[in-house]
Amino acid sequence: PLQESDPVEDHAITVCVRKRPLNMKEVDRNEPDVISVLSKNHIVVHEPKLSVYLTKFLENQHFIFDYAFDESCSNDLVYKYTAKPLVQTVFKGGVATCFAYGQTGSGKTHTMGGNFLGKTQNFQKGIYAMVGEDIFRYCTSPEYNALNLTVSASFYEIYNGEVFDLLAKRTKLRILEDDKQQVQIMGLTERAVNSVDELLQVIQHGTRTRTSGKTAANASSSRSHAVLQIVVRAPSIKNIHGKFSLIDLAGNETAGDMSSANRQRRLEGAEINKSLLALKECIRALGRKGAHLPFRGSKLTHILRDSFIGVNSKTCMIVMISPSMKSCEYSLNTLRYADHVK
Ligand code: ADP
Ligand code: MG
Repeated sequence: PLQESDPVEDHAITVCVRKRPLNMKEVDRNEPDVISVLSKNHIVVHEPKLSVYLTKFLENQHFIFDYAFDESCSNDLVYKYTAKPLVQTVFKGGVATCFAYGQTGSGKTHTMGGNFLGKTQNFQKGIYAMVGEDIFRYCTSPEYNALNLTVSASFYEIYNGEVFDLLAKRTKLRILEDDKQQVQIMGLTERAVNSVDELLQVIQHGTRTRTSGKTAANASSSRSHAVLQIVVRAPSIKNIHGKFSLIDLAGNETAGDMSSANRQRRLEGAEINKSLLALKECIRALGRKGAHLPFRGSKLTHILRDSFIGVNSKTCMIVMISPSMKSCEYSLNTLRYADHVK
């Protein structure tokens, strides 16, 4: 697996995979672990199959990504190779974007928001907060201090093609596209933050809004995409200097699940499917000069249009997988998706 001493590579698009450990329940049920990380970028799924003689065997499916993180890797280590190298993009006036993709329960929120101590989340140990720490470090560094850069944050959710403000009691917001194809979310709360502590409060507040409440949208945060957007501005020119978008995506297991008896669930599944497919195409287009950018394919990609254009855009995608045999099919789906992204 990856060692702390391995070099951090510089890519416009980084795609990596993170395997979580088996949890207590899975250990208690004696669930086999079907995933092996063989090297710093090589992961194998041991897929159980039935032979024509009706004997069981394991078929190995190999995948190579930019990095492969095994169950021993901490959020700090994952951060070092994924979102951290993108912070300088923001200060060069660009757009940095980091996605967490995977099945519900695979570790997206653990990675982005922070690890869990029982039921409480340690927000300081999530990629959101670590990005914030580095952004404030840059702002006060000798190189940037004189610019008096300001930092602000928004936090919203995209559920069933609609936008909800996580910093304003989940108010539903409209999006507008101007004549320059710039997409704006009307009335989105933007909190000025002057320190990591203030940013942590915003993260905590938004996360609580996302996971509490009783309406259909709140019932399961796994069916929505959560977007934390950190904007850095130079006050002298009032312009956006740079932007970092961090996205905890909807669980991909519900994408295109047409078998549910519940019509609402089927519609949600179709919407999630549409947005995850559009996302894949948009990231691919970012990596291919002159390629068609199908950002209108979904609300998610429409809103994140900035992330897929411009010479200064950098993106990373961390795909999460559960190691258990029960999740094998989902893990393979996740890895195949990631394989097509780059
Ligand atoms: P998701 O957001 O993808 O649905 P979560 O982040 O909520 O998944 O993770 C599900 C559970 O697994 C949580 O209890 C979390 O603490 C645990 N978990 C996820 N990833 C890891 C990891 N790398 N190490 C330890 N526990 C993890
Ligand atoms: Mg989650």
